[in-house]
Amino acid sequence: MTAFPITGGCICGSVRYTVKGPANCVVHCHCSQCRHGLASLVVTGATIDLNQMKIDKGEENLTTCTIPSGVRRQFCRSCGCSLFYFDDKFPEVMFYYPATLDGGMHPGHVKEAEHHVFVESKAGWEAFEDSLPKHAKGVGIAALGKSE
Ligand SMILES: [Zn+2]
Ligand SMILES: [Zn+2]
Repeated sequence: MTAFPITGGCICGSVRYTVKGPANCVVHCHCSQCRHGLASLVVTGATIDLNQMKIDKGEENLTTCTIPSGVRRQFCRSCGCSLFYFDDKFPEVMFYYPATLDGGMHPGHVKEAEHHVFVESKAGWEAFEDSLPKHAKGVGIAALGKSE
């Protein structure tokens, strides 16, 4: 079990954050915008209620870009590390990239709250095999906003 709070940050250390509680949901996204934006075949995001995130330092070093889907992504302008994103379709929650947690920490979600999303958009050569639920498109607020 993950003991909260947990901390994370960007590669260069300019931006540091604390997460106060477990992720509502974790999504492994296979869409083309995540693929290009983060240069990775699959990108993992965690949702938390807005009040669960505290940026400890470097907020002024975050650059926000809006990608075509309307998602606002924030990254460190010094090292380019992506940290957070916001989707106006789900204003109750924010997303962070749990791969940026210190020491590979687990974001604390329950196993049933972990999904593959936008599997229909994955790169043709991406192969993955695991037992997690797979969704052709996204999951709704019922999954993203469920606390514990
Ligand atoms: Zn940085
Ligand atoms: Zn995506």
